[in-house]
Amino acid sequence: MKTCLVLGAGTAGTMIARKMASKLDSNQWKVILVDRDETHYYQPGFLFIPFDMYKPEDVYKPKRQFVPGKVEFIISDIEEIQPDASRVKLTKDNRVIDYDVMVVATGTDIHPEETEGMTGAGWRKNVFDFYTFEGSVALSNFIRTWQGGRLVVNVVENPIKCPVAPLEFLFLADWYFTRRDMRNKVDLVFATPLPGAFTKPRAAAEFGDMLKRKNIHLEADYAIGEVDSSKNVIRSYDDREIPYDLLVTVPTNMGAEVIGNSGMGDDLNYVPTNKETLQSNKWPNVFVMGDAANIPTSKAGAVIHFQLETAVENILAYVAGKELHGKFDGHASCYIESGFNKGILIDFDYTTEPLPGEYPLPVLGPFSLLRESLINHWGKLAFRYLYWNMMLKGIEVPLPNKFSMLGKRPSLNPQSA
Ligand SMILES: Cc1cc2nc3c(=O)[nH]c(=O)nc-3n(C[C@H](O)[C@H](O)[C@H](O)COP(=O)(O)OP(=O)(O)OC[C@H]3O[C@@H](n4cnc5c(N)ncnc54)[C@H](O)[C@@H]3O)c2cc1C
Repeated sequence: MKTCLVLGAGTAGTMIARKMASKLDSNQWKVILVDRDETHYYQPGFLFIPFDMYKPEDVYKPKRQFVPGKVEFIISDIEEIQPDASRVKLTKDNRVIDYDVMVVATGTDIHPEETEGMTGAGWRKNVFDFYTFEGSVALSNFIRTWQGGRLVVNVVENPIKCPVAPLEFLFLADWYFTRRDMRNKVDLVFATPLPGAFTKPRAAAEFGDMLKRKNIHLEADYAIGEVDSSKNVIRSYDDREIPYDLLVTVPTNMGAEVIGNSGMGDDLNYVPTNKETLQSNKWPNVFVMGDAANIPTSKAGAVIHFQLETAVENILAYVAGKELHGKFDGHASCYIESGFNKGILIDFDYTTEPLPGEYPLPVLGPFSLLRESLINHWGKLAFRYLYWNMMLKGIEVPLPNKFSMLGKRPSLNPQSA
């Protein structure tokens, strides 16, 4: 028997393991999926817990619920990957797995310890993250009784997963404190290393205007050097101090430690990957999906959905000894909660920045691009249903995988639409 090994049973690993088990001949191939954790988290839900939109129990389910019987599922830490020998060592029973083809889907995680003072006296007292389940729940307990003050959201460095999430946090905070009738007691500040509110020019301009309209101060080009919990200030490398009463940080994101320890990663432990074929740049029998790859698209669940078809096509071609024809175009779609039951949608790929218009159909939409609408908010909320009931269960989601200019209207001014 040959082995298709999948490392990591999060969004990407769960989806690709299921697909490969259905596509590869089970008389010749076994599919093995490894993860250290029994619990699958719906990470986009971490954003909603602090604002009482979701309860903690809304965002997790047992991983086994989504792993089909055909897949051998092993709960273990992955200790070491030896890609030159096509071998992986697990901690559980010291098991060693030899593979013929492997998919790395070990994701990315936060590293608050990378910033001086971040995990000091204030950590989880008035310094919180919302990128982990524990952080999000702790923040929700804090915010519920908070009497107001200066709330600073800080992105330490890029790339981060779901790059729009810090903006969403601020928009929802504006709405949440308005609803609690205490918006006038809260100053909202966004300190980001970017020169503007976002990476792509049109979206950055649009989000910059929204921050102004919502009275949220933008501190751009802010490269944090330290958190000083004794004074409740953050300090940048160019000595700009920002005081806070509540610091919500998006710490440095890094790929899995095992990637770095196995000599497979770049400086941030992301696997150098061909951005079109999703094949490792160095090992032809290794493919990389989701947040683990160093490719220049957003690290997002929706992106993994769009990658799936290319990954399956190319892995099948590779094991059949054929050329890889599948090309991932970097397609990303992100719903952005903007508060007051509204949301924005952006849709882009490697070459086209987010543009105004409608999605997926011209004029009919129903979603509006780069413009707030109620239906975009519903789209965001519907994502959780699609995630648990379709994406993870291998049911086709009726949205085109490839980026399309259909409905995009580059000349439209989103404000006047
Ligand atoms: C706050 C927040 C909001 C978000 N909002 C959105 C959104 O609105 N839309 C969207 O599309 N995306 C969103 N995302 C991003 C999305 O959740 C992720 O991009 C996606 O889940 C990544 O999937 P993945 O499979 O690459 O990694 P993960 O799902 O993180 O899976 C990686 C797996 O690898 C395992 N692993 C790692 N190392 C080891 C090891 N050594 N041994 C064993 N197992 C290991 C981990 O246990 C984990 O299960 C959001 C994320 C956050 C944090």
